[in-house]
Amino acid sequence: RDITERRKAETLLEDSEKRYRLLADNVTDIIFTMNMNLQYTYLSPSAYSISGYNHDELKGISVRDMVDPETFSHFGDILAEELEREKREQSNLSRSRVLEYQHIRKDGVKIWVEATLSFLRDENNSPVGLIGIAREITQRRQIEEKLQTEQQRFRALIEHASDIIVVVNLEGIITYINPAVERVLGFKVEERIGHRGLELIHPDDIKFIAESFVALVENPTPRMIKGEMRLRHKDGGYRTFEGVGSNLINRNVVEAVIVNYRDITERKQAEEILIQSEKRYLELSIIDDLTRLYNSRHFYDQLKKEIERSNRYGHPLTLMLLDLDKFKSFNDTYGHVEGDIVLSRLGQVIKECLRETDSAYRYGGEEFTIILPMTTSEEGMVTAQRIQSELKKESFSPVVSQKIYMTVSIGLAQYKIKEEMRAFVHRVDQLMYQAKNSGRDRICFKS
Ligand code: GH3
Ligand code: MG
Ligand code: MG
Repeated sequence: RDITERRKAETLLEDSEKRYRLLADNVTDIIFTMNMNLQYTYLSPSAYSISGYNHDELKGISVRDMVDPETFSHFGDILAEELEREKREQSNLSRSRVLEYQHIRKDGVKIWVEATLSFLRDENNSPVGLIGIAREITQRRQIEEKLQTEQQRFRALIEHASDIIVVVNLEGIITYINPAVERVLGFKVEERIGHRGLELIHPDDIKFIAESFVALVENPTPRMIKGEMRLRHKDGGYRTFEGVGSNLINRNVVEAVIVNYRDITERKQAEEILIQSEKRYLELSIIDDLTRLYNSRHFYDQLKKEIERSNRYGHPLTLMLLDLDKFKSFNDTYGHVEGDIVLSRLGQVIKECLRETDSAYRYGGEEFTIILPMTTSEEGMVTAQRIQSELKKESFSPVVSQKIYMTVSIGLAQYKIKEEMRAFVHRVDQLMYQAKNSGRDRICFKS
């Protein structure tokens, strides 16, 4: 019988088997075959280094010896399940299953293994064993576990944060919000998810927020936008927040805008109180209690400013100085309290005679100054005369059934370009004394 063809085929087969064995013997993954009792029938040499067993020890070893009993019985279940599926589905499509399990090395150390398994079949396509590839994945598992812990930690951080943290998708819909929303705004998490991010924002702040959102989404360069806005609490009131929006659209998996809202209502209120009290303090420090006019400290500050302005723009500037006539004798006769009433009333009269831009100061005890910006001395005369005549209408009754009228002497002058402030004041002072010396109740002025 000519067996040439058979020999040829046999040689070819041998060659191909040699090639495959060579491949299997040299890969770093473990290639193995098993019979249906889960006993190894072949194990590639990479198994030695991974399992710690040598060639002879591995001969005839069962997978049972290399895993804990629980894992082994799990393998049995899977095998039974797959055989059952074969029968039920009547399909011999070659399927493979991936298992991850812990393998016990010869030295007792457990390592993680990932194995991909398929049935080995005979010529009738019936399963006669298993073929698989396995690799050690201990490191990968460790990284995964670490990642998971890390993730849990971050989640815990976000869930317990006092700021509200919101993830908004590109359509502006809230896809995540942390539980702080309940503590801060009174809404349950479920009440916010799926809603528009703009919904709770104060109508006056919506424009700014909407624009910021568009800027964030359209331009990935400014990665963060910060601003203040008010959000509506479930009780209907508004609270003030500092919001920081970050664009994570182009960053890996997030594809959204994250906004961190910090409740700054209390801080804002404290700031507002501070501003108000500072304002009040400032007012107190520049206003004279008795007359409600500005005090002399403020006078010099304002006069300096007006002089600078006058020098720069060439506008006229007029200064007036008033002194009550014979006030000492009034005080001496009727007492200090009655005198104070006169001072206070005079303050009132002066105020009523001034324009919006004019300002009056209690310069000394019973002396007053008035700054009249954009006013010539002629125009200032009109104001001075008005004060004089208005005061004459005021009667004082320190003693019942008595009517006393007070008069003032007034000095008035217009500022001369480049004139020193002190010199200007002195000039007006001199004019006031001139009025005193010429008999009181009169106005002396220099244009
Ligand atoms: P003249 O017409 O020359 O100005 O006479 P006069 O008495 O007004 O002038 P003098 O400067 O000698 O007196 C000012 C007086 O103003 C002295 C003081 O009794 C009084 N005086 C100053 N400050 C106050 C104050 O705050 N309250 C009261 N009631 N009197 C004051
Ligand atoms: Mg005086
Ligand atoms: Mg006086």
